Amino acid sequence: MIPNDFIQTLLSRVDIVDVVDRYVPLKKAGANYQACCPFHSEKTPSFTVSPTKQFYHCFGCGAHGTAIGFLMEHGGKSFPDAVEELARDAGLQVPRIERPGESDRREHAMDLTAITLEAAKFYRGQLKDSPRAIAYLQERGLTGAIAPRFGIGYAPDAWQPLASVFSSYEEPALETAGLVIAGDADKRYDRFRDRIMFPIHDSRGQVIGFGGRVLGDGEPKYLNSPETPLFSKGRELYGLFLARNAIREAGAVVVVEGYMDVVALAQHGIDYAVATLGTSTTPTHVQKLFRQSDRVIFCFDGDAAGRKAAWRALENALPVLADGKNAGFMFLPDGEDPDDFVRRRGKVAFEELANQATPASEFLLTELCAQHPPTSVEGAAALVAAARPHIAALTAPVLTALMQRRLADLTGLPENELRRLLGHRAEPARARSHDDTSGAQGSRDEPSRRPLRPAQFGQRRAPSLVRELIQALLLQPELARSGTLPRPEGGTPEDAALSALVAYCAGSEHTLTTAGVMQYFAESPHESVLASALAAAEDAGITAEHAAVQLADGVARYWQQAQREGFPGIPGESVPTAEEAERLRQLEMVRRAVSISQPKSTRNH
Ligand SMILES: [Zn+2]
Repeated sequence: MIPNDFIQTLLSRVDIVDVVDRYVPLKKAGANYQACCPFHSEKTPSFTVSPTKQFYHCFGCGAHGTAIGFLMEHGGKSFPDAVEELARDAGLQVPRIERPGESDRREHAMDLTAITLEAAKFYRGQLKDSPRAIAYLQERGLTGAIAPRFGIGYAPDAWQPLASVFSSYEEPALETAGLVIAGDADKRYDRFRDRIMFPIHDSRGQVIGFGGRVLGDGEPKYLNSPETPLFSKGRELYGLFLARNAIREAGAVVVVEGYMDVVALAQHGIDYAVATLGTSTTPTHVQKLFRQSDRVIFCFDGDAAGRKAAWRALENALPVLADGKNAGFMFLPDGEDPDDFVRRRGKVAFEELANQATPASEFLLTELCAQHPPTSVEGAAALVAAARPHIAALTAPVLTALMQRRLADLTGLPENELRRLLGHRAEPARARSHDDTSGAQGSRDEPSRRPLRPAQFGQRRAPSLVRELIQALLLQPELARSGTLPRPEGGTPEDAALSALVAYCAGSEHTLTTAGVMQYFAESPHESVLASALAAAEDAGITAEHAAVQLADGVARYWQQAQREGFPGIPGESVPTAEEAERLRQLEMVRRAVSISQPKSTRNH
């Protein structure tokens, strides 16, 4: 048995888009991601993955589920195996249910985002009170509008600024969140002091960590959050969440090396830039980027260090380059970073340079030819040998063919001869990240082995009030705690599902998420009602953003309706008290008992 609260934590930590994309390459479509459904055969994509709901749904065949559900349905895994795989990726240990205290520790992990959010608010507030920090930003050419957009803040020059934010500075979670350092002799102090603070967001917009730039000449110049349960620099890109719309509009994303570069570029109208966080570009980064845009431009300094960093990015990009995806490499004049460049020369000059970015294939061959000039037989042989692992890493069939032809031209070898030298690959492997260590291969070969859902699933139906309540509550399950919600006992599947949903959410002690709740009800009698309601929420105009208002409104209408049907309403109140709700529930039971005991023929007269 795996404790339910662990499942909830796990689902709030993994990104279903990453999980699904590993097996089914996804394409961005509005707020969601799409692909042709892996569970049924189709030509136009109706398989949708929602990053906000952390849920997938196929409008064609009705397949649906969380990240766990996907590994089970698509990979044929058992529930424990699916959980184990996701936990491994997320760096979590699957707990044994007997161990006491385990759930407490996980509760702490859940609290980490609340802590980082509080810290971000604090730093933002401190910026206003620090003329020095403001002067620094102004000196870098930033105007008043840009700092709030990025949530830029200031960590005061003191040992324990955060002690004023959190009730207990001793709280171990502050350390876990990477905000407080426990030094010698139990001296605790803030990690970030006298620094300009850049909050780092995950793909859901939650603050998961910080980058801090020193104000003066202190060292280190840039300081990031350490690896924490929330933050992993090899996975995250600074600015990606904020830039996502601009990236879509520009049809491209520019990758730079520092957060100040991202902010400076945005200041000059280039708001589709993101930065790696003190690490070279990883395959996970590249995959994330290609999910946002078909065109990724890596921007580097033109010096030797810049070319070396570009080469590493190239090596990580090659295995993820699909046909139709385009990675470009742009180099700035020696000695200039993007911040300097755009301030000195402006947006137009930067975009001109970006448009001339060297395609990955050309960059690869140029660099290889520089190392092994094919001007002699020996040079050509060395070039083929050097190119071999890189071409083997390619997974895009058309790109591979074109590269082979270019290499044939460069070396003067006939193409079929060259292909033999490069070694045949029977079938191009599917693009997978280097760090993917999942042992999923064995069970991945028969994805559509069973019809998943009954045929009536997902059919259009008249909107019902109960269904609206289900939808709002599924999008914001925490709302179940805020008032007494109806638990109808009318006997329809929707009534039963709403009652169960309210009972579970109101009674649960951990943080609730859409995916967590859906996982809880997976394979219960309510699953199909809940899943189809969730899938239809957007069509019904019910959104996570407005769920609170929509729920309050729906609840008010529910009680009005109950009143019209002869039950006491709640005058002047939209939500009944617990007592009133209890009375209504009892009345409802009485009503049902009466209607059941009456002969059918007379009941409706
Ligand atoms: Zn399908």
